[in-house]
Amino acid sequence: MKSDTYWFYIEPFVHIEITKSAYLLYNSLNFTYITGVYPEIKNMLTELTHNNSVIKISNNSIKDIKLKEFFEKVKMNYMGDYFPTSFSGAKPVQIAPNHEVIPKKIDVNMEVLHQADRYKLLEKLNKITLYINSEPTDKSLYDFSFNQFLCNINIGETYNELKYNKSEEILKSLYDSEISEINILGGNILKYSNLKLLTEYLNKLGKQTNYYFKYKDLLDTKKNETFQNISKESSILKVLVENSYSQKEIKIVNDYLLINNINTNFIFLITNKKDFNEAEKTINNLKIKNSQYLPLYIKGEFEFFKEAVFIDEVDIMGLENNQINIFQNQVINMLDFGSLLFMPDGNCYTNINSEPIGNIYNKSVYQLIYNCLTKQDKDWFLTRNKIEPCKKCMFNALCPPISNYERVIKQYNLCSVKI
Ligand code: SF4
Repeated sequence: MKSDTYWFYIEPFVHIEITKSAYLLYNSLNFTYITGVYPEIKNMLTELTHNNSVIKISNNSIKDIKLKEFFEKVKMNYMGDYFPTSFSGAKPVQIAPNHEVIPKKIDVNMEVLHQADRYKLLEKLNKITLYINSEPTDKSLYDFSFNQFLCNINIGETYNELKYNKSEEILKSLYDSEISEINILGGNILKYSNLKLLTEYLNKLGKQTNYYFKYKDLLDTKKNETFQNISKESSILKVLVENSYSQKEIKIVNDYLLINNINTNFIFLITNKKDFNEAEKTINNLKIKNSQYLPLYIKGEFEFFKEAVFIDEVDIMGLENNQINIFQNQVINMLDFGSLLFMPDGNCYTNINSEPIGNIYNKSVYQLIYNCLTKQDKDWFLTRNKIEPCKKCMFNALCPPISNYERVIKQYNLCSVKI
C-alpha cells in the first residue's frame, strides 16, 4: 500500500552500535548482522536509538537506493520493518530491554552485616584463587607467565605462605556461595605446611578445584601422596609444562597420574611455532589424554603470538552473543567479575596486574567483595566501551572481555579490525 509516511522500527533484541564512521546492527537471536558507513543510515539509526527504536520516515526515504537496500537487509534478517503510518495513527509502542546487570548502589549495611547481606555479597563471587605459598627459585619462563594467566610463581627473597587459618577462613565463606571454581597455586604447593588439611577441607567443600603444579614439582612421586586422596569428582591437577622440558620426565609424571587415576590436564606453555611442534609431538608420543596449549607472550616472538591470539570480525561474530552477553559486556568484565585472588602475604586482587583491593589479614571476604562492587571503574568493571581504542569500535559490546594479555602488552586491541 502506498503512503506518504511510514513507521520504521527495529526489534528490541537488535543491538545497535553507531561510531564516528560506521554503524552495526546485530540480531542477538539469529546472530546475523549488518554494517555500513552510509551517513543517511547512520543519522537514521541515531534518531532511532533516541526514540525507542521506532521513527517516522518519508516516502522519499524508501525510494533512496541505498536506504531501500538497507531496509531490505533489515527485513531479511528479521531485525525490523516499516509500514504505513495510516495503519497506526499513534506511534507504536516498543519496550526496550532492561540493562541493569549490576545495581549502581550496593544495598548492604557493612556496619552490621546480616546473613541476608552476606548472601547478597557472596552471590557475586564466581572464582577464588589462592596462592598458598611462594618460593624464590632460579629464573624461568614462569616469571613471564603469572601475569598473563594462572601459573605458579617464583617471588620474594624467602619462602612465604598464606597461614592455614586464613586459607580456611576464605574457603569457609564459600559454603553458602555458588562459586564455580577454586584455584590453588604456589610456588610449589607440595611444600605447604598444612596441605593435607587443606585438601581435606576442599574435598568436603565439593566445589570444582584446580591444583596447579610445575611438572618438575611432581617428579618426586613420593611427595605427591596427598593428591591420591583428592576428590575424583571435583578436583583436577593442572600440570604446567614450560618449553625446556624432558619428555622422559613428562612420562614419569603422566604415568604416575594415570596409575593413581587422578584427573589431570597438561598445559603446555607455547611461545613460538617450535614449542608448539614439540608439544604436539610429546602429547602424541606419550598419548597424553587431556592437554591444552597456552600461548605465552615474550618479547621477540610477537608474530607468533599475533597469529595465535589476535581475533578478527569472523571470530567475533562466531561468538554468537545473545542479549544477556551483550549487556554483560557493556557493564562488567566477564573474565574478572566475581574473581578474587589471594597472594601468600594476604593481599587480595581482582586482577594480578592491578593494585590490591585489601588484605585478608585485616579484612573479611565480605568486605573485600564489597570493595570490588563499590569501585565500578576497576577490573570487575573494566569493559571495552571504557578504553581506547575499543570504545570507538562498533564491535565493542560483542568482543571478548579485556584479557591479561592485553594488560601485559598494554595494547587493548589484539585484533585485525580496522576502526
Ligand atoms: S578494536 Fe577492540 S572492540 Fe574492536 S574488535 Fe578490536 S579488540 Fe574488539
